[in-house]
Amino acid sequence: MSAEVDWNGIADTYGTPTYVYDGDWLADNLHALRSTLHPSLEIFYSLKSNPNRGVYDVLHAAGARAEVSSLAELRLVLDAGTDPENIVFLGPGKSAQEIEACVDAGIYAVVCESFDELERIDEAARARDVRQRVLLRVNPALSIAGSRLTMGGKPRQFGIDEAQVLAAGRALTDFGHAEVAGIQVYLGTRILDTEVVVKNTAYILDLADRIAQATGIPLTAVDIGGGLGAAYFEGERELDAIELAKDLNPLLDRFASAHPGTRLIMESGRYLTALGGTYLMRVRYTKQSMGENFAVADGGTHHHMAAVGIGSFVKRNFPIALLSRLPEPAEEHGTWNIAGPLCTPNDTVAKSVALPELRPGDLIGVLRSGAYGPSASPCTSSATATRPRSSCAMAGRTWSVAATRSTTSSAGSRPTPSWAEPTATADPRPFEPRKGAVTMVNTDNATTADALRNALAEVLHKELPELAPGTRLFSDLALDSTSVIELLMELEDTLGLQIDPDELTPDVFETIGSLNAYIDACLTGEEKAS
Ligand SMILES: *Cc1c(COP(=O)(O)O)cnc(C)c1O
Repeated sequence: MSAEVDWNGIADTYGTPTYVYDGDWLADNLHALRSTLHPSLEIFYSLKSNPNRGVYDVLHAAGARAEVSSLAELRLVLDAGTDPENIVFLGPGKSAQEIEACVDAGIYAVVCESFDELERIDEAARARDVRQRVLLRVNPALSIAGSRLTMGGKPRQFGIDEAQVLAAGRALTDFGHAEVAGIQVYLGTRILDTEVVVKNTAYILDLADRIAQATGIPLTAVDIGGGLGAAYFEGERELDAIELAKDLNPLLDRFASAHPGTRLIMESGRYLTALGGTYLMRVRYTKQSMGENFAVADGGTHHHMAAVGIGSFVKRNFPIALLSRLPEPAEEHGTWNIAGPLCTPNDTVAKSVALPELRPGDLIGVLRSGAYGPSASPCTSSATATRPRSSCAMAGRTWSVAATRSTTSSAGSRPTPSWAEPTATADPRPFEPRKGAVTMVNTDNATTADALRNALAEVLHKELPELAPGTRLFSDLALDSTSVIELLMELEDTLGLQIDPDELTPDVFETIGSLNAYIDACLTGEEKAS
């Protein structure tokens, strides 16, 4: 976000909590990515990361195509004037209505996720006497480490297994109205390691050739997915597009030369929006509890579940800043817990972050919040439906602001905001993670056992004796599924653990011994990685 945003003015005009987006940054960031990656690669914006109309309009104007996964998103991009040739629709459970809308609109391709669906698409196109281009989503046989959410190499609801596609052979070209014209593979999200993207892409391009040979489908388009990440947490490094281009562009170049005319598609959501948005909240109350500082703000889980950390096993703080005033030079930073207004202990936006002395009325921002904020939060769940929805403001250098209501369901019908043309080049400030809780990595076995006992004591609110490895977490210690998550959060805090939810299995939580072994394995893995 650009530095000179008038946060107080925005909050006064639009109220809090609110999401604020920097249109200049969104456009500049996309231009930078497009001019760095191979010119034959087209960037399709994944609207699920942020279906805000204002955000989409900026990205669309800056040259993004559209990847949509719901009827509301499809209507939004059509309303916004997107050329149907630049729209793809994907998702494992498309309704008949969604498939029909795709065919009616004549979008470039439906990304098909099962053989059943392929027949539905064929039927819908036959009923309209047209042909509909289809890209087969392939669940590849490989899985490359480094993505937080691995999508390949495992049984999945997404796509069709590589082996099944290869085995289908010429049958794929037999559909009269569904024209299978290429493949799509999406291997995961939050990828920060350029080598992972390069390896994924190499695999996908080779797979496209193998599938074309085995089945006879033309390669009119190959969609290499994406999943480019954004750094949120301490110790993470931003994905460097220039570094990515060094190894990716030659691959793409070779493929493009061998397949002139094939459209090369990359999907991107998070990378295009995450750093361009701030979740702005106002502090309502401050207080102390058992020696810790709490600021209770007007925003939280209901708009920004990712920052709260629900859905991941461990709570890590998004970068947080005081935005309404400059702290006095000599002002001491304290350690703060930032809570939202909901009546659940889970509504904790940040734990133990260093911030100046907070006061009621202060504006604080959860930075890097442009992706998967409203679209991944329970704004409309029954628990929170009575709370006001967050509005959205668009801020540029000279913030000329348009507010819209942001919900996915009403996305298509919202009025078009207007704002100033991007004027100057934004220079997003480099990410300077705030020092939060002290984390330490310790592989000493005895210390792991101590840390585990302390964490359990914290979660169970009682002193614990030395614990035998055979002690069972559920039956002997009476942990339940909620307290297990608290336990993982506590361990993350004290040991600096990063737990991959994909790797957790129930037997990790059998006994003290199994959990201890799992933690040790995590700690060793992290040491190796760093
Ligand atoms: C979610 C999703 C995206 C966008 O992922 P980002 O990590 O936000 O870039 C792209 N393609 C598919 C198939 C997805 O499910």
